[in-house]
Amino acid sequence: MSEKLRIAGVVKESIVDGPGIRFVVFAQGCQHHCPGCHNPATHDFNGGNLVAVETIIAEMQKNPLLDGITLSGGEPFEQPQAFCELARRSQALGYHVMAYTGYSYETLVTKKDQLGLLEHTDLLVDGKFEVAKKSLMLKFRGSRNQRIIDVNKSRYKNQIVLSEIGY
Ligand code: SF4
Repeated sequence: MSEKLRIAGVVKESIVDGPGIRFVVFAQGCQHHCPGCHNPATHDFNGGNLVAVETIIAEMQKNPLLDGITLSGGEPFEQPQAFCELARRSQALGYHVMAYTGYSYETLVTKKDQLGLLEHTDLLVDGKFEVAKKSLMLKFRGSRNQRIIDVNKSRYKNQIVLSEIGY
């Protein structure tokens, strides 16, 4: 049976949430509570709606122009099993996977439950939003402390490799 995601919503076509044309899923639930968060309505773990991974995949497949999927939030890594299934199935269909998280990469690699989702992520934008480091000039990031990490290269080299996009 397909896993269920708790989501705040989706954007079916976006050019501002990662490279190319992307389907964006906003996870519902976030415990980071970054001051100045752009999306506080996504913090409540009981809010939003439950939707099957299958339903999201079917929606994506209706659009032949999509390059990838972006997992945003909220905090996708608070629902690692369901978002891992979505990321894994998306990659299997040839979609590029980008994920946002308030956790650091260094923290995620130590968490067994969250490793699966990390392993099925191509680009990870990590770290809490820090309002003092906010800049509207940044591509795909809200604040300068956040990094856009090439997960595949980082795993291969066993050290953080930043993606060239967005810098
Ligand atoms: S991690 Fe993202 S959604 Fe969560 S509080 Fe921080 S900015 Fe908001």
